Amino acid sequence: MSNPAEELTRRVIDDYHRLNAEAVVAQLIGHGYRAALAEDRQAALERILESVPAGADVGAGGSLTLGQLGVLEALRQRGHEVHYPRGGESPEEKLRLRHAGLAARVYLSGVNALTKDGEIVNLDGMGNRVAATCFGPERVIFVCGINKLCEDLESAVVRVREYAAPANAMRLELDTPCAATGFCHDCDAARRICNRLVIHLRAGRQECHFVLVNEDLGL
Ligand code: SF4
Repeated sequence: MSNPAEELTRRVIDDYHRLNAEAVVAQLIGHGYRAALAEDRQAALERILESVPAGADVGAGGSLTLGQLGVLEALRQRGHEVHYPRGGESPEEKLRLRHAGLAARVYLSGVNALTKDGEIVNLDGMGNRVAATCFGPERVIFVCGINKLCEDLESAVVRVREYAAPANAMRLELDTPCAATGFCHDCDAARRICNRLVIHLRAGRQECHFVLVNEDLGL
């Protein structure tokens, strides 16, 4: 039996998120991105596949969001060369794939935080993802769940450093203090994943696409 208070709450939350999402997409377009709002992950997947030209090779950064969408597998099935490990590769082969991704025609990247003003904040351990999204591939496609939306740059950096990084270290079962405690110790661990912090203020000279998904994705 439906509960009117529950339904009203759900509707207001949905409307709130949609209005915010539409506003940030408008900001991103103003900043030079080919940005669009996808209502759900299926719509996001279709949008990404439409944005990858036939025959293009594709690089990608490590991303739970990309994994949830199944986009790399969909691209492989469509015949694209994807410079990303399938699992089981040697460390040397993984490094070779990361280098190949830097020179790919298209690069796919998740997002650690997005501000309401349309600034993208990403934090890397090795730096291959943030490097490729700054220079190299002719087309970059960012994909971001609505849960990454932050009020401003300060709260975005806090989200990235104090939530996303420890949570990803836990997901990857890294030998870092945050993976054991759930919070950042600003460590010097060999597998520290917080080494390169990049803020994208504008799209710049790369052709940058942005797919904002109106549902929670990634960490
Ligand atoms: S600096 Fe170290 S402890 Fe902090 S989130 Fe990054 S890896 Fe974890």
